[in-house]
Amino acid sequence: MRLINRFLLLVLMLTCIAILLFMASRSEDKQLMGTLIDRVNTNRKVVALTFDDGPTPEYTQELLGILKAHDIKATFYLVGKVIERNEDETRAILNAGHEIGNHSWSHPRMVFKSQQFIANEIESTDKVIRAAGYSGVIHFRPPFGKKLVALPYYLNKTNRTSITWDVAPERRLGDMATTEEIVEYTLANTKPGSIILLHVMYPSRKNSMQAVAGIITGLQAEGYEFVTVSELIKR
Ligand SMILES: [Zn+2]
Repeated sequence: MRLINRFLLLVLMLTCIAILLFMASRSEDKQLMGTLIDRVNTNRKVVALTFDDGPTPEYTQELLGILKAHDIKATFYLVGKVIERNEDETRAILNAGHEIGNHSWSHPRMVFKSQQFIANEIESTDKVIRAAGYSGVIHFRPPFGKKLVALPYYLNKTNRTSITWDVAPERRLGDMATTEEIVEYTLANTKPGSIILLHVMYPSRKNSMQAVAGIITGLQAEGYEFVTVSELIKR
């Protein structure tokens, strides 16, 4: 009986530890080491619009068209192996004057991975971003926002800043969110210095793509200026 109790206690403890590790790994505003920025403290109405994944041939031009029509600059966290496949789309983003960041080579969950694995994922992606002709600072955004020990350790060691977000309509509302809901949530939750996360590079994210214009005009009507993440940090 006593043995069973001890066993149950152990299982309970391990479960608690697993839950805590899981919560820590997906925290949007905390990281064990190094610099993580989820928003910038400012009174000025500046905001950064960020797009994760891609650049896919199907959706890059459409998104660039929307950003150009509203004359704003955004920040793109691109996946290394997708950059390698889609050089034209990468250059189009770069030539339009947007900021490019590193979103890993193969978009893995970067927890419980070796330093070598993490180094490969990050360095090879920086390399293809540079090969495309990008000369700005390259920040890192962890795939799925996941990080625990090894990834922050490597980022800190190599002096890289992690960028997450404080406004993530798709993560909060779920996959079934309508365009109106995405716009409404974003307008309601954006504050001066916010970093907004959107995914528009897939067929399943049509509602997000259609929300981009509404988010821009809605926030501009409230007096917001759109800047890249690097500019946001500078201010
Ligand atoms: Zn991603």
